[in-house]
Amino acid sequence: MSNVPPFLRHAPVTTALPLVLDSPHSGEHYPDDFDHAPPRAVVRRAEDTHVARLYRHAPRLGAALIEAVFPRAYIDANRSLDDIDPTMLAEAWPSPLAVSRKTGKGIGLLWRIARGGAPMYARKLAIAEVQRRIDHWYRPYHAALAAEIDALHRTFGAVWHINCHSMPAVGDEYADDAGRVRKDFVLGDRDGTTCAPEFTALVAETLAGLGYSVAINDPYKGVEIVRLHGRPDERRHSLQIELNRRLYMDEATRGPTTGYRQLEANLQRLLSRIADYVRAQV
Ligand SMILES: [Zn+2]
Repeated sequence: MSNVPPFLRHAPVTTALPLVLDSPHSGEHYPDDFDHAPPRAVVRRAEDTHVARLYRHAPRLGAALIEAVFPRAYIDANRSLDDIDPTMLAEAWPSPLAVSRKTGKGIGLLWRIARGGAPMYARKLAIAEVQRRIDHWYRPYHAALAAEIDALHRTFGAVWHINCHSMPAVGDEYADDAGRVRKDFVLGDRDGTTCAPEFTALVAETLAGLGYSVAINDPYKGVEIVRLHGRPDERRHSLQIELNRRLYMDEATRGPTTGYRQLEANLQRLLSRIADYVRAQV
């Protein structure tokens, strides 16, 4: 088994705040047993490339940043463990499955198709190898994030978590908004259930003040990670932030564009405003 760690944790380098960021989809380490059928460049279109790097300043503001090292197309950290497509498996899964709409579209815990629609695998997956992906990559990532959030909540009595993602500039055929040109940012709080409305509003207003267009819960409401951690009645606030890739990268080559530095600087301004807010709450 690989010596590559499943996640990286960037600890605060100044006084710690109860603020945690996680980037579950920006991993770029493709394990040797990921024998995807389409070319790597096609499979990589599933990645939120650069997202963890764009938030690397977070520890200087007192926030912890946890990033997945494994790619989303291998096992998707933002899905529940029972969201598996049984048609991808060589054998019956040993426990009950709860297939979601995402799996219906081919993008559940295990992706059946690559972006563009080509089958991800030329074979069925064995139960043992899927369980290895879960135990070696998925579970440690989730355990690290939960430990971080729980420890801060114990210390401060409240915690704020930002689940960091990026999205294609235009909805593709697997999205709920196929063909639609997207806003610069989409905030997801699962229709106001995963964080205090004032926190979503603070982020939306700060981004609008920086000149960005912002949508809330449209087309992305947030999926498994904010659902797991967002319990605002316990002062556990969790918000998903989707960045539009046109702001910072060429979606064909995956290379950063000239907009990258400006976005990075503006994300620093956003996090600084969030840090001030969090500091005032505890
Ligand atoms: Zn993502």
